[in-house]
Amino acid sequence: MNFELNESQRVLEEAVRGFAAAEVAPHATKWDREERFPREIIPKLAALGLLGMAAPEAYGGSGLDMTSVSVVIEEIARHDGSLALTIASHNGLASAHIARQGNDAQKRRWLPRLARGEALGAWCLTEPGSGSDAAGGMQTRAERRGGDWVINGTKMFITQGSVGDIYVVLAQTGPNKQHGITAFVVERGSSRGVSVGKHLEKLGMRSSDTTEVVFEDCVVPDENRLGDVDKGFQGALGVLERGRISIASLALGIHRGALEEGRKYALERVAFGKPIAENQAIQWMIADMATTYEASRLLVRRAAAMQDAGLRTPFEAAAAKLFASEAATRACDRAIQIHGGYGYIREFPVERYWRDAKLCEIGEGTSEIQRLVIARQILKNGLRV
Ligand SMILES: Cc1cc2nc3c(=O)[nH]c(=O)nc-3n(C[C@H](O)[C@H](O)[C@H](O)COP(=O)(O)OP(=O)(O)OC[C@H]3O[C@@H](n4cnc5c(N)ncnc54)[C@H](O)[C@@H]3O)c2cc1C
Repeated sequence: MNFELNESQRVLEEAVRGFAAAEVAPHATKWDREERFPREIIPKLAALGLLGMAAPEAYGGSGLDMTSVSVVIEEIARHDGSLALTIASHNGLASAHIARQGNDAQKRRWLPRLARGEALGAWCLTEPGSGSDAAGGMQTRAERRGGDWVINGTKMFITQGSVGDIYVVLAQTGPNKQHGITAFVVERGSSRGVSVGKHLEKLGMRSSDTTEVVFEDCVVPDENRLGDVDKGFQGALGVLERGRISIASLALGIHRGALEEGRKYALERVAFGKPIAENQAIQWMIADMATTYEASRLLVRRAAAMQDAGLRTPFEAAAAKLFASEAATRACDRAIQIHGGYGYIREFPVERYWRDAKLCEIGEGTSEIQRLVIARQILKNGLRV
């Protein structure tokens, strides 16, 4: 399988790299300090087609393949993990779930608005009492009342929770845990009984918006149900399989940032009369960061290429996310070490990279859950060699 980018993917990479350097890099530290969602960048992202990546062209999107999506997320994450998380969740979770389980009318109704950035998407699975065991611990319920559904429950850690307009909500509809969950679209502006709960102050990803979302007798018509009743969790698992490649790509972008900033500083900083890069101890850190970056990139590209070939990737997506996220956190740690005291203060971006990278080991399935998924696949099927 060829993991090299094709011509259109390379053009996209160059365009997004230029955009990120010009429009994102100069502001990322400030947005992080202010812990403010940068709404002003949304029309620019939409103009580049970065908010309609999961939507087919027929529904106003750019219908990008997984490799292209991965390239976009890596390029944005190179400078700003928070903005990359916004793009990843808007496209890869909310819009992707509608594109995957929605019927034609639903896709025409919501996807063009999401692609134009007129509405931001949020995906509501996690709850205060359930994350890894999302189905088993789900308390949010939707009950049929005539032609409507009434949703009650609280969702936790929701990206775009307060700035989002279109929520995809997973709720229990049947007695069976995994096979009793249904997905619904709740439009914040027009549905009663939905409100934003607590704003969550975070270690990193600070300019990404994360809140609780509360549903209290929230009434939605049956037209807002995505896919068959009780089949929502199966849709969510498919969404997460691709979503994990997005988070791995996000880790890859942060990792590259750590490497580039570490390299630059090592060449400039002088100690004992010579640049610190001339010390083998520093060279080994650079070597390890570069080697693990390349290894992560191969895993991410392989998982994306297999998705683009129409293959299932439970093992490949989990392995890419597990390796790339842990390698990114380690690379950020090394970048801070190379910076010495300057790595520990906020004047340099590497401390932000470390705080942002850590989320990649947690969101869309923790490292422990990725290991469970990988072990299950390997014990069942063995290695694909
Ligand atoms: C910034 C941020 C943004 C997020 N965005 C979203 C979003 O947009 N939508 C959404 O639905 N969710 C979102 N999440 C939630 C995220 O996916 C969950 O936090 C994550 O899946 C972990 O769930 P938890 O926090 O409940 O941890 P828990 O499930 O309680 O896990 C706690 C610890 O126990 C471990 N553990 C649990 N079960 C096992 C097991 N069987 N074997 C071994 N170890 C285990 C975990 O790995 C972890 O170390 C977000 C989270 C954050 C922090």
